[in-house]
Amino acid sequence: MYLPGVGPRKAEILKKELEIVSWEDMIYYFPYKYIDRSKIFKVSEIQRLCRTGFDSQIFSDLNGERTEKSFPYIQLKGRIRSYETLGEGYKRRLTAEFYDDTGVIDLVWFQQIKAIQNMYKPGTEYILFGKPSVFNKNISIAHPELDTEDKFLNGETGLQGQYNTTERMKNAFLPSRAVQRIITVILENIKESLPETLPNYIIQRFHVIPLDKALRNIHFPLSTALLQQAQYRLKLEELFYLQLHILRTTKYREKRLGGFRFTQVGDCFNRFYYRNLTFELTNAQKRVVKEIRRDMNNGRQMNRLLQGDVGSGKTLVALLTMLIALDNGFQAALMAPTEILATQHYETLKELLTGLDIEIALLTGSTRKKQRNKLLPALKEGIIQIIIGTHALIEDTVVFSNLGLVVIDEQHRFGVAQRARLWKKNTIPPHILVMTATPIPRTLAMTLYGDLDVSIIDELPPGRKPVKTIHIYSEKRAKLYESIRQQLRQGRQVYIVYPLIAESETMDLKNLTEGFETTKKIFPEYSVCMIHGKMKPAEKESEMQKFVSGETQIMVATTVIEVGVNVPNASVMIIENAERFGLSQLHQLRGRVGRGADQSFCILLTNYELSENTRRRIAIMTETNDGFLIAEEDLKLRGPGDIDGTQQSGIAFNLKIADLAHDGQLLSLARDLAQEILEDDPLLQKPENSLLDQQLNKMNRSRQMGWFMIS
Ligand code: ADP
Ligand code: MG
Repeated sequence: MYLPGVGPRKAEILKKELEIVSWEDMIYYFPYKYIDRSKIFKVSEIQRLCRTGFDSQIFSDLNGERTEKSFPYIQLKGRIRSYETLGEGYKRRLTAEFYDDTGVIDLVWFQQIKAIQNMYKPGTEYILFGKPSVFNKNISIAHPELDTEDKFLNGETGLQGQYNTTERMKNAFLPSRAVQRIITVILENIKESLPETLPNYIIQRFHVIPLDKALRNIHFPLSTALLQQAQYRLKLEELFYLQLHILRTTKYREKRLGGFRFTQVGDCFNRFYYRNLTFELTNAQKRVVKEIRRDMNNGRQMNRLLQGDVGSGKTLVALLTMLIALDNGFQAALMAPTEILATQHYETLKELLTGLDIEIALLTGSTRKKQRNKLLPALKEGIIQIIIGTHALIEDTVVFSNLGLVVIDEQHRFGVAQRARLWKKNTIPPHILVMTATPIPRTLAMTLYGDLDVSIIDELPPGRKPVKTIHIYSEKRAKLYESIRQQLRQGRQVYIVYPLIAESETMDLKNLTEGFETTKKIFPEYSVCMIHGKMKPAEKESEMQKFVSGETQIMVATTVIEVGVNVPNASVMIIENAERFGLSQLHQLRGRVGRGADQSFCILLTNYELSENTRRRIAIMTETNDGFLIAEEDLKLRGPGDIDGTQQSGIAFNLKIADLAHDGQLLSLARDLAQEILEDDPLLQKPENSLLDQQLNKMNRSRQMGWFMIS
């Protein structure tokens, strides 16, 4: 559908950046915060306040965001006197004098110099919205928003929504204000009420306002109270439909997909358990094995997520599960995201199964043709009982005799579609166990994996020493090198990790290679290797292998080492520019050490100047090793408007307004309601529920939700 005021270029950008293609998409793009624009300052006041300091309350918005150190957003009312273009090349900028009856202040633009002069005419009165800054004692406002007063409509509250925009949107004249203008036009064009999306009985029971009122007030709040009611309504609705969808999908699948019954625990399991296993299972491992056994014997396909911190012993649980499959006459497969991990698993399992007469094989992209030609028929005939591998396992040439169980390690690296292909490897889909070391907060797990069952190993094997985490300022790193040398002298190995941000990849690569050279100079008596994302997979593997085998003692790397590699001899993890990492990422990196019996260390290097948020992240890291606590905090520290953050956390759908960190209670409410409705009317066939059915079907058609069906 055509959006008024949006040409093909802007439409293209909205589609690319935000996946907005229709009017509906657009009005469901909500502000991430609100700014009170009822207060207008005088220029003289701003000059005084910039010198003496602002009362930080001025424009702190409804979400309680604080602006640290920098000045807050303010509004002025006045006119532009004249323009002047200064500087050359990248220093080229446009300045203007902006005045009211109390004084003059400078405005500055570094981009769109021509366009600005055409857009804002000297002498016209504007409402200016912007953030003052002080440079060389000069007060100026860079890239302010200017509006003639009549365009400035915001109800009576002065509350103005702020919309998330990307860099590309800003460059294409689509800042928050432009988004707001588009939405204004759409809402003005929709004269009749927007159709209701919740049945009457829910509206009455929860006293929520109608959809039309909610949508209009979420963009242009008529009062604070109405804004809150609008937020409540839209959040509840969003979470409710999500839960309804998840729960209905589960019920649907439970009915539809039968599963193999693994009734036996036999020789394979028992011989391993009583002969080969040299240690006692932790209580958490025992509990989880029980949960899995029950799941694999109830006539339905198992879809279970196994969560446990790194080193909690998931692999062992996976092995026990596979042995149960073997005892019932089935084959089992274990799939890992990289060749190194697959190889490591293969070697570990082979060793654990010594003397048990179980056929186990490895299949990866670099398995030789000759070997492959032997292996594939053996798999098809059922001679190979356990196969470990990478993506290579899902290829069509890989045929099983009777595949009963698939274990997937570190699920984040596997696409949902790839997983689905595994299901087709037998007439009845095999049981699926997904293992992940990325702890997921409960509220999130409930939402993300409402259709998966979740088992948690929340206990480490005895005798592990928790990793000691220390924060050190980069300026004081000299001392650090001595301690590292001590560790190296004791035969330990060390990781040094550098951040990588996509937008400045060349810069980061430079940092990394410089770090590599410096490290070699500082530790000339040791061997150093390096890996980063730009390397070819084979190159990466071979560098990694050098470290795994102990040929090199120091590994300089980017976050490519984040996932699951096990080098028990590595005892130090140094993270450069730790301020540039998210909490979950820091925790994942830390998990690379502390896998042996010795004391391990994680060193977080940062600059002196840290934002409050970063300080908090670092503090959490030094205070706890508990992955779940860290995941909860991570979710809280990320603002709801943090687009990148959401992507990073691997959340596969967009929540437009609800926020899992803060809306946990609302989520429970929504889930209870959804459960109650489905218990009474599982297929949503009652007349009062027909709207629910309709909405769900609509959601299923949209891409964001589609993934649930095959997860
Ligand atoms: P994860 O895959 O969860 O990171 P692993 O399964 O690789 O953890 O286990 C890490 C190490 O701990 C392995 O060397 C494994 O043999 C050992 N381990 C697992 N379970 C126990 C246990 N109950 N007691 C002692 N050691 C264990
Ligand atoms: Mg593991």
